[in-house]
Amino acid sequence: MKISVPEYILSINPYKPGKPLDELEREYGIKDSIKLASNENPLGPSPMAIEAIRNTLGKLNRYPDGSGYYLVRKLSEKIGVGPGNVVLGNGSDEIISMLTQALLVEGDEAIMPVPSFLMYDILVKTAGAVSVSVPLKSLSIDLEAMKDKITPKTKIVFITNPNNPTGTVISRKQFDRFLKNIPPEIVVVIDEAYIEFVRSQDCLNSLEYLYSGKNVVILRTFSKAYGLAGMRIGYGIMPEEIAELLNRTRLPFNTSSLAQVAASAALDDNVFLEKTISLIHNGLDFLYASLDRLNVKYYPGQANFFLIDVEKSADDVFKEMLKQGVIVRSMASYCFPEYIRINVGLHEENIRFLKALERVIL
Ligand SMILES: *Cc1c(COP(=O)(O)O)cnc(C)c1O
Repeated sequence: MKISVPEYILSINPYKPGKPLDELEREYGIKDSIKLASNENPLGPSPMAIEAIRNTLGKLNRYPDGSGYYLVRKLSEKIGVGPGNVVLGNGSDEIISMLTQALLVEGDEAIMPVPSFLMYDILVKTAGAVSVSVPLKSLSIDLEAMKDKITPKTKIVFITNPNNPTGTVISRKQFDRFLKNIPPEIVVVIDEAYIEFVRSQDCLNSLEYLYSGKNVVILRTFSKAYGLAGMRIGYGIMPEEIAELLNRTRLPFNTSSLAQVAASAALDDNVFLEKTISLIHNGLDFLYASLDRLNVKYYPGQANFFLIDVEKSADDVFKEMLKQGVIVRSMASYCFPEYIRINVGLHEENIRFLKALERVIL
């Protein structure tokens, strides 16, 4: 290759998404396979979102409202912040990308838990900055160790709550202790992709910190509980000064008109959200009880997924499960060579998963 590429770009390992269903069926010549690998909503999209999308199809000749006026207004009212505190993204992934682009220069440092969401590392490196990884402690984010890694070069600290792939949450007390004496120049990003599923009572409430003027950026998404992963829409809630920075570098039409109306309708569809949350909670309890019965070790979590210790190569189990038509996620590239991660599916999908797992590991 003749073009000259920065060393830091060459150092990036591309993100490996969960295997798509179509790909599995094509490769193995099977039908009716199920996917429990990407923490998607098994119920499909909200019916109200589908209706809103349908009603907008005839207007696709027009550019979207680049500011997402109506969706931003609806979100800000719901959350209790000003419209100037909300930035929409093509998935919350894009908000991470906007933050790393706007806040980092070559040589800066961003601290992140590992294993956690792989996009932090990729996007920090894309900005030419340095990822400072802090291992989990007993599957939980080790805030004290993360704090110890702060240097004058630190610009961002990423926290995932609940954490992906472990499902653990940070308590209010732990977060208060962490935030104390954090230099005000540092932006603390709290990624809440799964916050709707949390049942733990003492989980930190990130909005309180934003209301009280702390430098926190909260990431939320329509991809999980709201069932709109394919639409690509998420948002960040942040101090106005940071939102203004992101709006300078943001592409003018980063969220499509379909995504905006779908998200807006999904926000109104409380019936769907409640149905989703109870399906996930019941599914988790059912899966935990079933795994107990099978004597399989697992780690309960606060999200719509959890880890299972298969006590043999997770990559092998992943492949064997594929042959049974069940897509799970091997955690080998997340530092857990013998764990798989599954998300809750429909009840019949959970049963199929358990049967396949029994065949593969017992
Ligand atoms: C799924 C996920 C996201 C977001 O995804 P988008 O589809 O880009 O909104 C963000 N963070 C974590 C930890 C996730 O698991």
